[in-house]
Amino acid sequence: MMSVQITCSHCGSSIEVHPDQSAQKVECGICQHTMDVKFTPEHEQGVLKECPVCTRQDFYKQKDFNRKIGVALFVVAAILSIWTYGLSLVALYLVDLFLFRRLSMVAICYKCRTNFRTVANMSEIRDFDHEMNDRIVYSDHDFKGKPLSH
Ligand SMILES: [Zn+2]
Ligand SMILES: [Zn+2]
Repeated sequence: MMSVQITCSHCGSSIEVHPDQSAQKVECGICQHTMDVKFTPEHEQGVLKECPVCTRQDFYKQKDFNRKIGVALFVVAAILSIWTYGLSLVALYLVDLFLFRRLSMVAICYKCRTNFRTVANMSEIRDFDHEMNDRIVYSDHDFKGKPLSH
């Protein structure tokens, strides 16, 4: 099932929800601020066409890399490298290559930065585009799900 990670517009905390058509609001567990959401039957099937928070259709995808785990592993490998003559760093590099590079992808809304995981149509979502990002964030341009054309 698709999981949706909304950023609270009031305090910036993450709110984790699953698509549910009957839910029209989500409440922040930290500050109790409520935000409107609009889930569709498509969302319930894991299909991402429209953002349930801001109703925009422009998303990008990136690797869902867990930075905290990555940093912790690097520290461990660096400490071990004293005894392993750097071999642990080589091992970490291989782990990174084979494990983290194959991690699942996350789709992100350009406009409101809501994160979507386990998206059924992830292959339709394009990589991050700087120009689109600038035009959406700074000029409030709405691409309506279409790629940037020159
Ligand atoms: Zn909040
Ligand atoms: Zn959005």
